[in-house]
Amino acid sequence: MPILGAHVEASGGLHLAFARAAAMGAEVLQVHPTPPHYWGSPRLDEERVERFREAAARAGCPPFFFHAVYLINLASADPMLRQRSESTLAGYLATADLLGIDGVIFHTGSHKGAGFDAVLPVIAGHLSRVLERADPRRARLLIENNAGAGGCVGARFEELRAMIDAVGDPRVGTCFDTCHAFASGYDLRTPEAVAATLDEWDRVVGLERLEVIHCNDSQAGLGSNRDRHANLGQGQIGEEGFRALLHDPRLAKVPFILEVPGLAGKGPDAASLEALRRLAAS
Ligand SMILES: [Zn+2]
Ligand SMILES: [Zn+2]
Repeated sequence: MPILGAHVEASGGLHLAFARAAAMGAEVLQVHPTPPHYWGSPRLDEERVERFREAAARAGCPPFFFHAVYLINLASADPMLRQRSESTLAGYLATADLLGIDGVIFHTGSHKGAGFDAVLPVIAGHLSRVLERADPRRARLLIENNAGAGGCVGARFEELRAMIDAVGDPRVGTCFDTCHAFASGYDLRTPEAVAATLDEWDRVVGLERLEVIHCNDSQAGLGSNRDRHANLGQGQIGEEGFRALLHDPRLAKVPFILEVPGLAGKGPDAASLEALRRLAAS
């Protein structure tokens, strides 16, 4: 069975995320270490790094990921915005490495119609400098696929591959969001569709570059380009698709992270984890 977990609140201190994860039954964690709709990078003094490391050790060092702020846009025509995005991402990656966690998941941004080929060299330049500035030994830089609205980069698997190749650094990997893939036209509703989408991923991106799965159902339809997460089984992908994903031997070692609304609409909760675990076991 894959490792199953969730996005967890980190308010009040990153070290508190471990107890919250344990309370909901999450064995892998993702947090927003800074508010996702504001600019900022996590900066921790020695004492807080120590507190985090102690809490991680007590929790058995579960896989742990940062999700970067949503403002990042490495594909923008505005050089100031791109520079700010680069600095923010470098700060995220450096802190992730300092804490000894697994990686930073981020959205590349939008070219707003300029076209992917035109912005690829620019994106690759920024990503290379992010790696140079943070120079992580362990933490990975993970590009997330997206739903494909408004010129957003990385909806097609080919674009993920092109960015990986253009950077050419083994510290770059990917995060596969099921809701985003579905919204951008990759079917996941049946065992056959899941197998075909994973075959396509393997052919284009490579399964060895798939390091995290964001496991979310989709309110919006196949190819709708709309990013609306739903609880598992309450969206258009449905339980059968998730059961197939959770049982695919190719994903047996990939952590699954829920970013679902939860029962109360406040994010993943114990019931969401229970639903995920039930699908993985049945
Ligand atoms: Zn994301
Ligand atoms: Zn996601």
